[in-house]
Amino acid sequence: MSGYPLDPSPEQMREMGEAAIAYAVDFLSRRQDAPATGFEGAVEAADARHAAPPEDGDGFAPLLDLVDEIARYASDNAGPGFLAYIPGGGLFASSLADLLSTTIDRYVSLWGEAPVAAQIENNVVRWLCDLFSFGPDSRGVLTSGGSMANFSAIVTARADRLPEDFLSGALYVSEHVHASVTKAAMLAGFPVRNVRSVPADAAMRMDVAAFERMVAEDRAVGLAPFAVVASAGTTNTGAIDPISAIADVAGREGLWLHVDGAYGGFFQLTERGRARFAGIERADSITLDPHKGMFLPYGTGALVVREGQKLRDAHHVGTSAYLQDLAADAHIPNFAEYSAELSRDFRGLRVWFPLMLHGVSAFREALDEKLDLAEHLSEELREDPNLEVPWPPDLTVVAFRLRGGDDAANRRLLEAINASQRVFLSSTVLHGRFTIRACILSHRTHRDRIDECIDIVRKAAAELAG
Ligand SMILES: *Cc1c(COP(=O)(O)O)cnc(C)c1O
Repeated sequence: MSGYPLDPSPEQMREMGEAAIAYAVDFLSRRQDAPATGFEGAVEAADARHAAPPEDGDGFAPLLDLVDEIARYASDNAGPGFLAYIPGGGLFASSLADLLSTTIDRYVSLWGEAPVAAQIENNVVRWLCDLFSFGPDSRGVLTSGGSMANFSAIVTARADRLPEDFLSGALYVSEHVHASVTKAAMLAGFPVRNVRSVPADAAMRMDVAAFERMVAEDRAVGLAPFAVVASAGTTNTGAIDPISAIADVAGREGLWLHVDGAYGGFFQLTERGRARFAGIERADSITLDPHKGMFLPYGTGALVVREGQKLRDAHHVGTSAYLQDLAADAHIPNFAEYSAELSRDFRGLRVWFPLMLHGVSAFREALDEKLDLAEHLSEELREDPNLEVPWPPDLTVVAFRLRGGDDAANRRLLEAINASQRVFLSSTVLHGRFTIRACILSHRTHRDRIDECIDIVRKAAAELAG
């Protein structure tokens, strides 16, 4: 026993809560000056933390020390210099929503248990559906992330377009599709060879003529094409597949059109994004990741489906006897009937808090700013004689290389950039070549940090070009 019973006294709760909030506020106010990564000694620190829990509790203060150590020995995903992979963010309003929603601990998955909770989650889902002009029959779910949203989308497409014996079903993706789509197909029971990789054009977008040809060839050898996945922003380069043209083929061929907007989907809030995603409203389903494009902390993705009943048909098995007391799916959905999950956290509040506190315009403006920053970064790097920027950014990923540099030289360039500790970038392989990429998507990244990034990259490139 420690001095803290499972149900602590009000004084103890206040003491712990105030210490936690004080830590959180201090942590966030230090982000501007914090190093972009803390990998040195991180594995040793992790090894030193290998432990079994104690028989008797140890108080609260050591737990805050633990959190600080976790934060320190890591890439600073909450910081303005995080430009690797797809940045997260971490809105403080969402942190507070999580604290409060886990405290009241209401059950959101079956609406009759907490109708207001389910209505709030429903508000979020409706807002997402409206964003893509999905009508009143559309439905959606909040997931743990884009991977689970893609999984539910593939399962729904399979249930809607294929017989129970579905192993000849084939789905089409661009060669730059996110790996979670292939994984989703695998988990949904398809042989991975049935995930047909369509070549991309020079701008890294799906080659629609090749897609249509492959569908015909596959039918000729007995496969059953049933779905196509278009990316509304690939993770590699932010490229947007030609959604309208893909929708045309999908319509002619009877394929389910899923759009993976896990990275880019929320740019639909901006004028430029809406124009670039033309045709997205014709999708059968769309994956979104509020923990990317809405700057939320990790743990919130979303799937919206135009004909919502199809999502339910694919995920509902009839009411279990032990749930017979519960209200039926109605104007407020039983989200469990649209999802692989039954019990889960109340994700809707985590999205609703920031929307209500800041308003939608705050998100639109922040995403517009990211588009501006990516254009600025791309233009500045392109002007540097030591660098090449092979593609102008479709969204906010800027891919670049050392001009005339081989893979080893580009790897050294990336290491030199990251050694600055002011920005953290990652790499990919494009056309067989090591390519550095900067992805701008944190609400904390502004012009000052991008200008600093430009200086760092140029100096490092100049030194390597020597
Ligand atoms: C991040 C990402 C995913 C996977 O989403 P998670 O939230 O990491 O599970 C899927 N597709 C694209 C395009 C992504 O950028």
